[in-house]
Amino acid sequence: MILEDERRAVVERAPELAALTPGRTGNLSVRDGRDGDAFAVTPTGVPYDEFDAADVPVVSVDGERRDGGMAPSSEVPMHAAIYRRENVGAIVHTHSPWSTAMAVAREPLPPIHYMIVAVGKSVPVADYAPYGTDELAANIVAAMDEADATAAFIENHGLVVTAPDLETALENTHHVESLARLYLQTKAAGLEPTTLSDSQLETVLEQFESYGQ
Ligand SMILES: [Zn+2]
Repeated sequence: MILEDERRAVVERAPELAALTPGRTGNLSVRDGRDGDAFAVTPTGVPYDEFDAADVPVVSVDGERRDGGMAPSSEVPMHAAIYRRENVGAIVHTHSPWSTAMAVAREPLPPIHYMIVAVGKSVPVADYAPYGTDELAANIVAAMDEADATAAFIENHGLVVTAPDLETALENTHHVESLARLYLQTKAAGLEPTTLSDSQLETVLEQFESYGQ
C-alpha cells in the first residue's frame, strides 16, 4: 500500500475533526514528506471514524488521484495547490465556529495571547474564492506569506492551518480556534482586546525555541 504511514495517520487523527467543525465540513491531509509529490487526505461523504487506511485517498500534488477506495474531499484541489506552493507536511481545514466568525467578520486575529506564536504573530484573512479552487489556495498562501503565518482565516468560509506534521497542524488548529474564541468573547463583553508588542512576541519565540511550549 502506497503512503501507508500517512494513510494510517489520517485514519487515527480524522476523528478529532468532529470536535472542531460542524457536520463533515473539515478535512485534513498528510504529505509524503515536506516536499513529497503525493498526500493522503480524508475521504468525502463518510463520518470521520468510518474508514480505514485502504479507503484513504492518495492524491498527487498535481491533483491526480493515485489510490484509495474512497473519493477524496471536494476541497482536495486546495490541499494540492497549497502543497505545490509550500514545503509543508500537513494541512488541516475546518469551519470551526470561532475561527469562521473571524472569517465572516473578515477580521485578522491580533497577538492577544502569547500562544499565537505557534502560528505566527497574527492570523491573517485570505481573500474569498470558491471552495476547492486553485485561486483559493493562491489567496491562502499569499495571506500566510504576507503575515509570515502558518494559519489563515478564509473570508466567509473557515480556517486553514499548515505544519511540518499532522500532530502540530491539529494542535495549532485548536490553538487558533481557542484564541479566536478569546478575542470574540472579550469583544462580546464590551471590552477592547489588548495585544502583545513585537518585542514581547520575539521573547516568547526565543522561549519556545529553548524550552518548548
Ligand atoms: Zn471548507
